[in-house]
Amino acid sequence: MNTSREFARILDQNDSLKDFREEFYISNEKIYLDGNSLGLLSKRSEKAVLDILNSWKTLAIDGWTEGEYPWFYLSEEIGKQFASLVGGESKELIATGSTTTNLHQLLASFYQPEGKKTKILADELNFPSDIYAIKSQIQLKGYDPNEHLVQVKSKEGHLLEITDIIDAMTDDIALIVLPGVLYRSGQILDMQAITHAAHERGILIGFDLCHSIGSIPHELSKWGVDFAFWCTYKHLNGGPGSVGGIYVNERHLGMEPGLSGWFSSAKEKQFDLEHELTPASTAGAFQIGTPHVLSIAPLIGSLTIFQEAGMESIRKKSLQLTDYLINLIEAELKDYSFEITSPREHDARGGHIYLTHPQAASICKALKADRIVPDFRSPNGIRLAPVALYNTFEEVWQTVLTLKKIMKEARYRKYENRRGVIA
Ligand SMILES: *Cc1c(COP(=O)(O)O)cnc(C)c1O
Repeated sequence: MNTSREFARILDQNDSLKDFREEFYISNEKIYLDGNSLGLLSKRSEKAVLDILNSWKTLAIDGWTEGEYPWFYLSEEIGKQFASLVGGESKELIATGSTTTNLHQLLASFYQPEGKKTKILADELNFPSDIYAIKSQIQLKGYDPNEHLVQVKSKEGHLLEITDIIDAMTDDIALIVLPGVLYRSGQILDMQAITHAAHERGILIGFDLCHSIGSIPHELSKWGVDFAFWCTYKHLNGGPGSVGGIYVNERHLGMEPGLSGWFSSAKEKQFDLEHELTPASTAGAFQIGTPHVLSIAPLIGSLTIFQEAGMESIRKKSLQLTDYLINLIEAELKDYSFEITSPREHDARGGHIYLTHPQAASICKALKADRIVPDFRSPNGIRLAPVALYNTFEEVWQTVLTLKKIMKEARYRKYENRRGVIA
């Protein structure tokens, strides 16, 4: 392992994606390793927001159908841009809602308990919002979440085993919701194998792609996944609260959504304003009300960067960055009781690394004081996301060397080992 700064610089020089860094607003004073919580603003997103504002300014109501990006079709247009990121067709995709509201919509549509099959299978490591949504949908169907939500357990607290997931697919499971990439350990679940096992047992399955979209390639249609949903403010750099996405497999299109609204309508029928809904024959049917145009706007710009860079190249560099980070941590921090809980195998590792340490909260505060932005996850996790589109190998090098200094000088002891309001 070459631990020199020069080596990091050589890796940067040889990086085929290095020019994309210029597309983003990057503070020279900081090293930002939190792009999997909130991606950075790109110049293209900024321009797109100003363009949309201008269309409102100059076109007013006519902005719905005129201008460069007519608002009435924007959700579908952005849906098309998701196609290469998730491996789906345009008609299976729509930009709408947020992760949590999209999950509510999809559960309201696909969770149809019948006969023996009444339960939902999830896991005990998923982000709480997904679990809250699942519990409320179970309750809305008149069942007790304590009995009807089954959560696959993790043996060591950070990873899930595919055999445990498959073993939990019992006769009483109606539907499964799992993350594509776990938000803490960054483990990738084998979506293809899990989907196959679920379908063999007559169970519907959907994935939360919040931490996988824009960081790893997907083939949802090829894998036969029933549905998926995601946010766009993490790896997709859509900005705080930017509009999320839904994928619904072609074989389910044409159905009435669980939660209907006038934007669920077939577009040509929508302004007939009838009280009988004619649902769109595309994933557009899973929209509810008027799209949040100003919060879709950044995606017009940010997604073009993904089309240009290509998911294969992004994934390749992402793995190089996390390999490099892991190797440096092992070489430089072995005396300081950090544990890397992310998988080592490439096919099981997403776009970030999860380190645990008993003093994680104070270590994160010390890193921030040294102008490095990590992500603390209670109770003892440090999430580091070197993002392929805008982070450098030298930044990874600087981070590990700073961490080493903080540990060596025990500088983290100056800070309380407690999380802030947002962590
Ligand atoms: C980020 C994230 C969310 C956030 O949900 P919102 O509705 O977008 O606030 C939900 N689930 C997972 C797994 C996430 O990573």
